[in-house]
Amino acid sequence: MDLNQISIGFNIAALLLCLADICFSVLAGRMGKKQNRYFMLILAILMINSVTGIIGRGIDTGLRLTSDNAFEVYRITRFIYFFTHSALCPLFYWYVSSVIDVTFSVKGTLKSRKGTDKLNLFLFIASEAVVIVNPFTHLTWYYDSSREFHRGPLEMVIYICAAVSFVITFDLLIRSWNVLTRRDKYMMVFSFALALLGILIQLVYPLCRAEVLFEALGFTGVMTVIENEDERMNVETGCYNRAALRLDVAGCIRNRRHFSVVFVRLHDPGLVQRLTGSQSGDLLNREIVRYLLTKVPSYSIYLANPSTFALLVYDEFAGNIHGESPERWAEEFSGHIRERFDSPWKVGDAEIPVSVTVICASVPKNAQSEEDLFYIADSPFPANTENGLICGEGLSLFTRRMSVETAVSKGLERGSFEVYYQPTYNLDKSLHGAEALLRMHDPLLGDLYPDEFIPVAESLGLIDEIDEFVLCEVCRYVATGKPGELGLDSINVNLSVLQCMKEGFADHIDRLVGTFGIDRHFINFEITESVAANDYDLLRNVIKGLKEKGFLFSIDDFGTGYSNLSSLFSLGVDVIKIDKSILWGAEESRQGYILLENCVRMMKELGYRVLIEGVETASQIEILTKMGADYLQGYYFSKPLPVDRFNELLS
Ligand code: C2E
Ligand code: CA
Ligand code: CA
Repeated sequence: MDLNQISIGFNIAALLLCLADICFSVLAGRMGKKQNRYFMLILAILMINSVTGIIGRGIDTGLRLTSDNAFEVYRITRFIYFFTHSALCPLFYWYVSSVIDVTFSVKGTLKSRKGTDKLNLFLFIASEAVVIVNPFTHLTWYYDSSREFHRGPLEMVIYICAAVSFVITFDLLIRSWNVLTRRDKYMMVFSFALALLGILIQLVYPLCRAEVLFEALGFTGVMTVIENEDERMNVETGCYNRAALRLDVAGCIRNRRHFSVVFVRLHDPGLVQRLTGSQSGDLLNREIVRYLLTKVPSYSIYLANPSTFALLVYDEFAGNIHGESPERWAEEFSGHIRERFDSPWKVGDAEIPVSVTVICASVPKNAQSEEDLFYIADSPFPANTENGLICGEGLSLFTRRMSVETAVSKGLERGSFEVYYQPTYNLDKSLHGAEALLRMHDPLLGDLYPDEFIPVAESLGLIDEIDEFVLCEVCRYVATGKPGELGLDSINVNLSVLQCMKEGFADHIDRLVGTFGIDRHFINFEITESVAANDYDLLRNVIKGLKEKGFLFSIDDFGTGYSNLSSLFSLGVDVIKIDKSILWGAEESRQGYILLENCVRMMKELGYRVLIEGVETASQIEILTKMGADYLQGYYFSKPLPVDRFNELLS
């Protein structure tokens, strides 16, 4: 076999390879993105090059010299080859630059790149120009009288342009190197090397036309790296996944692009499934994606976590609306998305109402880093936002929560926590006991209240340690003997119910308190009634165990949960604390009065002692005296106080 035949073989292989790549991309539905259209163009050029190669090689020997027609065809294929092939490098630059821009139009990105974009365009025009004028100038290539092909002096222009274009493409890649994974980098280098190898082979053996095949191989490699959508896709919904979001957001931030992320958080992602059956959760998600596709291109829709969609809204989406900033546009856009959820969604035959919160965060205005954005995506959304939309100033809520999280997680080691005490009284206004209530003083955020930091501590899994800190503080205080002197019967310590259910909890607590050598009757644990029904047996055992050691137990916030009363009574606690809202309600309506009156009566008849919290006025005390409550707690007597002032108050 001679080199000519080998060259034809190479070209046929290149043709088939490009054809396969194109089919693959079309079948995978990837034609929507700009970057893919560039890529298709590159592949089309390689196909044209291989066809001209095949025809050229076929005609070359012998025929070219003997037949005028054959020579004419040969000249045309050569021209087409030069015309298309010299566009390859500039096109590759555009391809890479649109990939790096997260597949996006070139405007508004890295300032320094504007220059290289113009340079690339110039290189493209220059190399095409020397090809187009060649039939008149014969300076790029020409044929002598014996129809032999010769390179002209201007051919160097094509090579130089290609080389410069290649260099600026490489520069682009290097600058966004960190966006690529390690494996991607290896494949990228390998693909580049492959393409270069082909060019080298052809330089050394000009008759062995390996260039096009090796370029096709190299581009196929690049395509598998960059276009590896499988890893980026969420199969169930058909949108991009969390990893893709992370990568794309990182790329945008690195390139200092301005954009907004619109999060659509479903409040109850399991609802549809519960209402209609097994697969319908995905059906709803797909329905939502279908709707989102009417608003933004497919490449900007992601599933950030199982209950949150994220839309990357690039500033370019806003177009050139007069007097309106892209951020403002994104906020209005978020409002429209939010409104869609006012009407139900069709899933199968069912019409299902879906409630969501939509959050619009603009980068860099409201969020500066990838972490900020994912923090928003993953934080619990506040339930009671105005019209379910959070944007602009509203996002400060997340920054606040983020700093509270930091403060809480460092709180114990920094010594930010302090236990305050609020006294409780008998009905005759003599002292009964106290409740230990936690306060936080953070060096950066100042004073924090439990309503803010306790839920954060719970979500960070730090509530156990914190409750234990409170218990130890209380034990230490009791051990000083001061509470006994002051005449306190007991001190109430709040416990998270979840903590009580942990294995070995009762023993652990007993041992801990034991180290302080105090009378266990001094400690009265408060737990809320929010327990799942099937956990009552476990809880009952824990309470029984600790009560046998001498500890007391109270049910806190009675009347706010939806407890199973008979299960609650089976726990065998000592005191029921009726929630302040029930007391306050008694002054507002006859209904509220009857509720409080009967709560107190029922508890008394069942043998519990009843504590009423939130007592603020003398008239409330009057009502409670009539009803026969046992203990009172509230601002009427005292707010929670630091231990020194608490001692002062009582002595
Ligand atoms: P809670 O256990 O129901 O505590 C009673 C809350 O009502 C306290 O708020 C107390 O300051 C407030 N309060 C008492 N009397 C009055 C009154 O007359 N009027 C009004 N408006 N409020 C009154 P605080 O200290 O902000 O605690 C809020 C919640 O944080 C507590 O509710 C409790 O659930 C939780 N918490 C506080 N300290 C701890 C702790 O050490 N561990 C755990 N797990 N939770 C705690
Ligand atoms: Ca309490
Ligand atoms: Ca309470």
